[in-house]
Amino acid sequence: MPALYTSESKVRVMTTEIKDIENVVIVGSGPAGYTAALYTSRADLDPLMIEGFAWGGLLQQTTDVENYPGYPDGVLGPEMMQDFRNQAERFGARFITDDATKLDLATEPGELHVVHVGDQEIRARAVILAMGAEPKKLGVPGEDELAARGVSYCATCDAAFFRGAKTIVVGGGDTAMEDATFLSKFAGKVTIVHRRDDFRASAIMLQRAIDADNIELLTPYVVDRFEPGENGSLSKAILRNVEDDSHRELPITGAFVAIGHRPNSQLVEDQVDVDPNGYVEVIGRSTKTKLPGVFAAGDLTDHIYRQAVTAAGTGCMAALDAEAYLRDTPVDAEAHWAAPPERIEAAAESAAS
Ligand SMILES: Cc1cc2nc3c(=O)[nH]c(=O)nc-3n(C[C@H](O)[C@H](O)[C@H](O)COP(=O)(O)OP(=O)(O)OC[C@H]3O[C@@H](n4cnc5c(N)ncnc54)[C@H](O)[C@@H]3O)c2cc1C
Repeated sequence: MPALYTSESKVRVMTTEIKDIENVVIVGSGPAGYTAALYTSRADLDPLMIEGFAWGGLLQQTTDVENYPGYPDGVLGPEMMQDFRNQAERFGARFITDDATKLDLATEPGELHVVHVGDQEIRARAVILAMGAEPKKLGVPGEDELAARGVSYCATCDAAFFRGAKTIVVGGGDTAMEDATFLSKFAGKVTIVHRRDDFRASAIMLQRAIDADNIELLTPYVVDRFEPGENGSLSKAILRNVEDDSHRELPITGAFVAIGHRPNSQLVEDQVDVDPNGYVEVIGRSTKTKLPGVFAAGDLTDHIYRQAVTAAGTGCMAALDAEAYLRDTPVDAEAHWAAPPERIEAAAESAAS
């Protein structure tokens, strides 16, 4: 008997049918996860998506998205993610709006993986990991309130909204330098705020920032708080000198926080290969992890591009990789010694269909 999973949240109440053995379970629901759901549903694999309690991914946190192809007038991030979801749903993708709490990933080809959502155990022949990566926050007053109203975590995405503006970039690594250099093409002034006098950034990236006419370095300062102006958007950053504790006020309308990302790989970091920063490693130009039938896509694997369109692109790749795996890998009945016979039968049927 298929299980029924009922998820109640403020967003929606839904009942999703869960099969004895799923072909493919997708964990995570940003552009990567929804694209994988779209492609696997159009390939008649009837995917089940564990989309997370905070469904829709990072773009739920932003307003205008102007660089996603196909939206000539731009689109609001949440609207775009609803479009992604609707498109996957149209072809039959099923959703559980809750977090996966544990993953037991199999190590042999054809063996079943088990995805846990609370007490519910979901068995799957293939799993696509698409849990994304969270930008690290400063954790200072005003940061959350002014997110998408001046405070940003993505210069590539938002720099063009700050033409002629006074801005800061917070951080001292390569990403901060790259963000500042990119932002300097649009902003009137960019101040790089860093807590130490020395920078972790490579010499060449630092020099590139120093060479720009409208970039200045300000150390050793941290952001103490952000404050809004009368229009409710960011109007100033209050900085604190970490050596003498003095304060300094910078009038700005844009602040880019560039202190790193934290990939959401905690559930799998002991099972698949991850790099020193926790990004899931894939084999070559594929989305295959070292485990058979386990694929990874989107920002969870990507510390370089981190864009919606690249995440969607690798979501498509993961779906195609999973489809090829399911086509070529018979279910290993012996590996399911613990499963009741009807479950093995169901797996064999699903492999044959
Ligand atoms: C403020 C901001 C603005 C941005 N603006 C743009 C822009 O304009 N253009 C652009 O191209 N890019 C933009 N980006 C970058 C873009 O959002 C990301 O590159 C993209 O969302 C990555 O997609 P993803 O599918 O890999 O992951 P995400 O979008 O991060 O989605 C991952 C999802 O997985 C879920 N998840 C995590 N763990 C679990 C679990 N255990 N179980 C179930 N679900 C789980 C999360 O809740 C999340 O919903 C922006 C980023 C930020 C932060």
